[in-house]
Amino acid sequence: MADVRIRQEIAGLPAYKAGKPAATFEGTAFKLSSNENPYPPLPGVLETAVAAAGQVNRYPDFGSSELIAEIAAFVGVGPERVAVGTGSVGVLQQLVQATSGPGDEVVFAWRSFEAYPIVVQIVGATSVAVPLKPDETHDLDAMAEAITDRTRLILVCNPNNPTGETIGRDELERFLDRVPADVLVVLDEAYVEFVRDESFPDSIELSLGRSNVCVLRTFSKAYGLAGLRIGYAVADEPVAEALRACAVPFGVNLVAQAAAVASLRAQDALLERVAALVVERDRVFAELRAMDLPGRLGVEVVPSQANFFWLRLGERSGAFADACEAVGVSVRPYGHDGVRVTIGEQEANDRVLQVLRSGF
Ligand SMILES: *Cc1c(COP(=O)(O)O)cnc(C)c1O
Repeated sequence: MADVRIRQEIAGLPAYKAGKPAATFEGTAFKLSSNENPYPPLPGVLETAVAAAGQVNRYPDFGSSELIAEIAAFVGVGPERVAVGTGSVGVLQQLVQATSGPGDEVVFAWRSFEAYPIVVQIVGATSVAVPLKPDETHDLDAMAEAITDRTRLILVCNPNNPTGETIGRDELERFLDRVPADVLVVLDEAYVEFVRDESFPDSIELSLGRSNVCVLRTFSKAYGLAGLRIGYAVADEPVAEALRACAVPFGVNLVAQAAAVASLRAQDALLERVAALVVERDRVFAELRAMDLPGRLGVEVVPSQANFFWLRLGERSGAFADACEAVGVSVRPYGHDGVRVTIGEQEANDRVLQVLRSGF
């Protein structure tokens, strides 16, 4: 009997590697492999989610209207410019579906977010991966030069996952000036809440001024709702409309909608937690810089504006990840490229720093 025919692009997909759960060491295990928030949901959010769960015999609001109104007010645009989805990866998948198909090209930097080549391959489009510069930043000139008449979509990850580097306002605008108006540029800002660099662009303003700029944000990282799968896009109305057309019906469930609204209303607590994580990030970087990693391991400490840091450890990536695992911390190795480590609980960060100090 013949096997069912699966599209070649799907059969050939690389599996998405989720961050490993940590092995336990001395009774504790820490997961620094998925850039999650170490804090529980914001005050009041759990209660709201539990109350909403009492109504799950009903379908959620199809248009997520309360949540969209809340997001629109929060970012300062009209609700017609906002679309939500099942995590920002869900929204990204809708964006790729809405813009690209077989024969079309999607440009992004590499290394960047692992989901990019996967969502591109699912629709049968072609990934054009442009290497990062030696300092781990986007090579925007090379990305502009990679645009062809087949380019439909450009993904710009800012700050970049896994390197943590950012693109400044002027540099981004110079790049946007070079992109044809019919090519959509997605600014993936999954970590925007952690950014402290004053030259970081106001992406919402950019999206208001340029009809081909779309901003992607998520409740998974700073807001601590990774398990509920909810993210959003802010874009010109026709793009937002196309996104809604590609959505899985009722994909954003009613617990997620209620929890996201409650989270947006808990801004003060959110800002406090993010500030505490930024303080911890600064502490970790001060320790990293004090260790002479370039001299001892031949690896530069590149600055990060996100809740993680990146070490281009090359061949030693696996050994470092194993050494972290041996002390109860899972981190995220990327083959022989490097390792990404989330800024998490202080004790977890200290264990990682100790592994680096020891030369593992
Ligand atoms: C974590 C992350 C996301 C968010 O994914 P969700 O689907 O919203 O959980 C999006 N983009 C990047 C670059 C990320 O690192």
